[in-house]
Amino acid sequence: MKNVIILGSTGSIGTQTLEVIEKLDNYQVKALTCGKNIELIKKQIEKFSPQIVCTQEPKDAENLSKIYPKTKFLSGENGLLEIINNQYDVLVVATSGIVSVKTVLKAIENKKTIALANKETLVMAGDIVMKKAKQYNTPIIPIDSEHSAILQCLKEFDNPNAKRLWITASGGPFLNNTRKEMAVFTAKEALNHPRWNMGKKITVDCATLVNKGLEVIEAHHLYNFDYENIKVVIHPESLVHSFVEFNDGSFLAQMGTPSMHIPIQYALTYPDRKTGIKTNSFSPYGKQLNFYEPDFERFPLLKITIECAKQGGIMPAVLNAANEVAVYKFLEGKINFLDIEKIILKEIETAKNISNPSIDEIFETDKKVRLKLSEI
Ligand code: MG
Repeated sequence: MKNVIILGSTGSIGTQTLEVIEKLDNYQVKALTCGKNIELIKKQIEKFSPQIVCTQEPKDAENLSKIYPKTKFLSGENGLLEIINNQYDVLVVATSGIVSVKTVLKAIENKKTIALANKETLVMAGDIVMKKAKQYNTPIIPIDSEHSAILQCLKEFDNPNAKRLWITASGGPFLNNTRKEMAVFTAKEALNHPRWNMGKKITVDCATLVNKGLEVIEAHHLYNFDYENIKVVIHPESLVHSFVEFNDGSFLAQMGTPSMHIPIQYALTYPDRKTGIKTNSFSPYGKQLNFYEPDFERFPLLKITIECAKQGGIMPAVLNAANEVAVYKFLEGKINFLDIEKIILKEIETAKNISNPSIDEIFETDKKVRLKLSEI
């Protein structure tokens, strides 16, 4: 029996991870953590009987412990760290934010598989995280569909025959819109993603293409590829989830109906491919696949994100924090769609980079940018 701990079980990836575990033989839920969605965590406790549950607020843990006396309840950041000290086989990190980075860094010491859905971890601290993972020989398996596709094509993390990674992007809801049209789009339009059903923040990141830039950073760290050898390709049908170009000129791609269930399942069962949950049947008959070069003029944030990545140091952390604050302001209706890039650009232009930053310097940067932007 494989024991799984899910950090962030009430979010989009968390709930889909539970759907996968339900269908997989020999996998069980050991512990769950949640933020404020107490109604949902109750249902998950009743269905999956985890031994331990950690809530964000101590009050929620206290109330829940009265309803479920057999479950151990913890809360807050200390609760999270206590949870990962338990025995487990796979730790699914489906939480967002900086807390996840701290948790992953601690969990690496356990030498157990980390299935990573959290973007900040590799975007902000990829060098530090991967160095430590190597030191402890801890596998970090991506849950994102693109990185999962790449891993399925590479089969191993260091494949000497691989030459280039091609990360596919649907292009988001504004793929065919002019800048003038984008300027007046609201959150409602940005949240109307044509292919994928995801959380709100990431859906806006798909509309700006920042998400794709962040995925380039993650691929760089996960597979140790230079930025020059990681390409972005617009593929509106979202049937090819990324491909790898090999030295002999062959391309291997992973295809399937867009669904996060498959990357989640692959991360839980890697290096094996197991059949638990299945996506809707997929027929190639009559399908057309299109691939385009990204339009960096209409989507400058893709270029800016990759530029920050190349600069390294604290720049990816600056970009990540500025983007997150800007996206939430946009979701709240406080700024326009194109203001997101204005806010990010201004932050990047005024930031002073630090090379080889410590983890504390990265966290400090994140805090500073958020504080500064919250005052706008
Ligand atoms: Mg993705």
